[in-house]
Amino acid sequence: MKELFREQDFTRVAFFQNVLEAEGIPTFIRNQHLTGSGLTEIPIPEFFPALCVMRDDDYETAVEIIRSHLVEDSTEEEVEVQCLACGEINPGNFAQCWMCGAEIPGS
Ligand SMILES: [Zn+2]
Repeated sequence: MKELFREQDFTRVAFFQNVLEAEGIPTFIRNQHLTGSGLTEIPIPEFFPALCVMRDDDYETAVEIIRSHLVEDSTEEEVEVQCLACGEINPGNFAQCWMCGAEIPGS
């Protein structure tokens, strides 16, 4: 099992799980039941839902699929920003790099 990305917003994680499952890639969401507990208002990245691929071999393919969807989603109005930590392109409304989780300045 290999983690693809984690995001505070569970709906986004679930969305990409659907996308990947539709492509025939078995996935698993870690920390699915830890969010929404209302225990804390402080976002703790360790507890964010994390989308993982069940088979490590699917990792590269899954990244490509997610990337292509992000590019499609971020046309025109959205500005793309490049992560300073890993160089990945993110939609401008991302506060964190979807790839490595680093904070994106100016978002
Ligand atoms: Zn990054």
